[in-house]
Order: sequence, then C-alpha cells, then structure tokens
Amino acid sequence: MGAPAAWPFRNLRPHELFVRMSLHRTQRFEDVFRSLLAEFLPAWLRSERRQQSEGARTTRPAAAVNPATADIQREGGCLCGAVRFRVSGAPLRVGLCHCQDCRRASGSFFTPFGVWPIAAYTSSGKMKTFAHRSFCPNCGGRIVWLRNDEAEIMLGSLDIAPSDLIPEYELWTSRRENWLAALPWADQFDGDRPV
Ligand SMILES: [Zn+2]
Ligand SMILES: [Zn+2]
Repeated sequence: MGAPAAWPFRNLRPHELFVRMSLHRTQRFEDVFRSLLAEFLPAWLRSERRQQSEGARTTRPAAAVNPATADIQREGGCLCGAVRFRVSGAPLRVGLCHCQDCRRASGSFFTPFGVWPIAAYTSSGKMKTFAHRSFCPNCGGRIVWLRNDEAEIMLGSLDIAPSDLIPEYELWTSRRENWLAALPWADQFDGDRPV
C-alpha cells in the first residue's frame, strides 16, 4: 500500500471527498470510488493517526499535528440547554456502536461517538449518570461517557450538523440493521474494539 503522499486530491481528505461526491449524487463514480476507498482509507487513517501521535511527542507538536483539526473547538449540549460542553482539538478516534446497551440507552439503532482526551473536555450544568452514560436529568439528552483518561462524546449532541467527524470503525456489526450498509472505509468489529 502506497504512502498517502501520493494522494492526488491534496486539499480534500479522501473521506471528505467521498461525502461530497455522495451529496452530488455522482453515483457511478461514487461506486468505483467506494471500492477504491475501502482499500485505501484504512491505511491512510492509520498513517495520519501515527503522524499525529508522533507529532504530539516531539518538541514542536503544533507543526506536526494536522492543522485542519488541531485547534478546532467543538461545542454541544442537551435538548433543553441546561447542559453544555466543549471539546478541543481532534478526537482520538470516532466510531459507531450497534450494541444492545447503546440501542437501549439512546432509543436509536446505533450511536455515533467520538473519544477525546479527558483534558480536552469541559462541561457546565448538572448531569445524572446511569451505567457510565451521563445525561441531562431534565430533558434526558445524552452527552458523555467519562473515563479516567478519556471523554466519549455522543456526537449527535454537537451543535453543528453535519459534523466533519467521520467514523473509522463500527462495533457489534452483527447487530447492525439490515438496511444499513457497512461504511466501506471503516474497520468492522463484531464486538467491542480490540485493545
Ligand atoms: Zn437538558
Ligand atoms: Zn455500544
């Protein structure tokens, strides 16, 4: 697999190009591109991730981290507005989960989530927590799963839609609804993410 330096669309990341083409319904090219992406993107994402983490360990992290996402502040909140939060910088990873707990907690068929370092997360307003999942006790809006080192954000609670965050992996894929297709570029796990 070639290095991402060979990628010809220099101003667009490949998954952004894919989403844009979907919007324009260039269907036949999209089908061809979809299969190319499935082959190309996982390695590209791994490579970008590696560059970012290597950058974070150098003495000049700002220059090494992807400038498109390094300084982004993303804000969100619950339905009634009592809880607000902010995450800074690029997420560590972005995924979709089709597991039973995610379905029951959300009332939806799957949950999209992004994981940030705990230091990148701040919130205001009182939340309640059940089975690690924190939500607004007034409106029930789901916000976050806090761990010691990470904040896992429910991406649907972000203010801006569509977001620029694209899942890199899917969990519990055997529970995915039959009318939902696997994301062609995303790693597929029939269970939790291997550690
Ligand atoms: Zn609320
Ligand atoms: Zn889940």
